[in-house]
Amino acid sequence: MHAPIKNIVIVGGGSAGWLTAGVIAAEHNAFEEGGIRVTLIESPDVKTMGVGEGTWPTMRNTLSKMGIREADLFKECEAAFKQGAKFSKWVTGKDDDYYYHPLVIPDGYTKTDLASYWQQHNSDIPFAQAVNFQAELCEQGLAPKQISTPEYGAVANYAYHLNTTKLGDFLQKHCTTQLGVKHIIDHVTGVNSAENGDIASIQTANNANIDGDLFIDCSGFKALLLSGHYGVPFIDKKHILFNDTALACHVPYLQKDDPIASHTISTAQSAGWIWDIGLPSRRGVGAVYSSAHTTQQKAEDELYHYIKDTTNKQTADNSQPRKIHFNPGHRENFWHKNCVAVGMAAGFIEPLEASALMLVEMSAALISEDLPATKAAMPIVAARFNQRFHYRWQRIIEFLKLHYILTQRTDSEYWVDNCKPETIPESLQNLMTLWEHQAPSRHDFPQVEEIFGSASWQYVLYGMGFKTQQRSTQQRFNNSHLAKKYVEKNQKFIQQLKQAMPTNRELIEKIGLHGLQKI
Ligand SMILES: Cc1cc2nc3c(=O)[nH]c(=O)nc-3n(C[C@H](O)[C@H](O)[C@H](O)COP(=O)(O)OP(=O)(O)OC[C@H]3O[C@@H](n4cnc5c(N)ncnc54)[C@H](O)[C@@H]3O)c2cc1C
Repeated sequence: MHAPIKNIVIVGGGSAGWLTAGVIAAEHNAFEEGGIRVTLIESPDVKTMGVGEGTWPTMRNTLSKMGIREADLFKECEAAFKQGAKFSKWVTGKDDDYYYHPLVIPDGYTKTDLASYWQQHNSDIPFAQAVNFQAELCEQGLAPKQISTPEYGAVANYAYHLNTTKLGDFLQKHCTTQLGVKHIIDHVTGVNSAENGDIASIQTANNANIDGDLFIDCSGFKALLLSGHYGVPFIDKKHILFNDTALACHVPYLQKDDPIASHTISTAQSAGWIWDIGLPSRRGVGAVYSSAHTTQQKAEDELYHYIKDTTNKQTADNSQPRKIHFNPGHRENFWHKNCVAVGMAAGFIEPLEASALMLVEMSAALISEDLPATKAAMPIVAARFNQRFHYRWQRIIEFLKLHYILTQRTDSEYWVDNCKPETIPESLQNLMTLWEHQAPSRHDFPQVEEIFGSASWQYVLYGMGFKTQQRSTQQRFNNSHLAKKYVEKNQKFIQQLKQAMPTNRELIEKIGLHGLQKI
């Protein structure tokens, strides 16, 4: 029980496996004699998911900590800047219906109640555009930084869109050549148990048994270790978030220099939505839908029309969507005995708001920073990990559900069902009651590392037309003078940025030529 934890085995070489390997290896000196040993084993027969091109700003910190140069990411992974998401047709379904969820918190957000001021004075301008400059950067296709901004630094907070297959290859190379991760390509066929129920080693098709102290299950939907070996149950969330099928494809640009959107475009459909992610060489486009509410044929038709409308008939005719089925939900626990699941093995809800890789990063960071020194410490760390991630999954589920419950669309059962109270978690219903008279605030989301802070909830809530009737007695809410100053300052800043910022494509091309300054 008191022997040191020195040997970590990761099963799975998708984005989850390599990100986790890189985070742990970098922090625990896997390259050095005496450092933690990190071994990653992946099957030659089971392909990685191959989708998941939207990330969160946390990725900048994760990659920087692994010692990755940002310019290399752009060159090797076809990366582009992502400054948030634009939601089209989620409220009324009409052509002029859209709102933004940008990544920048509004200036003055903690000083005064901008939402209240906006409702009283500026509601002719969309909420995100009134209180924040980033939505306008996106509308104009502008980048979040300049070529003189150092790597990972920002004028406007940003994440990436990237080619996920290339990211896997890039991380693999970096982890094995720079960080000391041992890579084994072999198929895991079974598990050998220790007397106390821990995993002692894993069996492989062509190598000897692989011993370890801690086993990280990154084997994707199968959850080979946590579910396959330990039988940790799956908690289904389809009764809250209905989507369970995706159709994914790559769409070429018509011209080589077509603009690259600086945000994910999410366009609502009759029983789901379509994502549109701009990379330098192509777009990643796909439909997510509820198989209980529509047919594959109808979803394919909607995707076809979307591609045709945003390119041309020939491109739409040539698109060959790949069908992916998923069960929305997560494991009952994520860390059991000496096994912890990360990535799809832990769970997956749906791609809306691209939270999956961010959860991978958060899991890897917590495992690495809180790595038990001995087996005796393992149950304590495991309990903390489970508690933290139960909270996070709950918050993600509620935040995603928020995007559906404020719709005015009644054109299909899908939208009608989404608004039925029995599909809305009670804690979200309680928050909605509170927000009738007070805007979302830090009191609603009290943890230090909240995934979606209250500003994100405000962007969706007010973007979708929710009304908060503030109490007139509260001093903070009466400070419209201060709020006015921030809103006006924001409008001036938008004008300055429009002059100063390069387009998304211009900056990416410049990074390819000149790189970025080191921090
Ligand atoms: C439609 C869709 C869209 C998505 N969009 C986004 C997005 O925009 N943003 C985002 O953050 N996330 C997104 N995701 C989630 C994202 O794709 C995943 O979180 C990410 O790819 C990580 O997957 P993974 O590494 O957990 O699993 P996988 O990529 O499935 O990798 C599993 C690994 O396990 C290995 N393996 C399996 N069985 C064995 C065995 N017996 N022996 C050895 N190895 C084995 C495989 O070889 C593979 O290497 C999306 C998911 C879907 C379905």
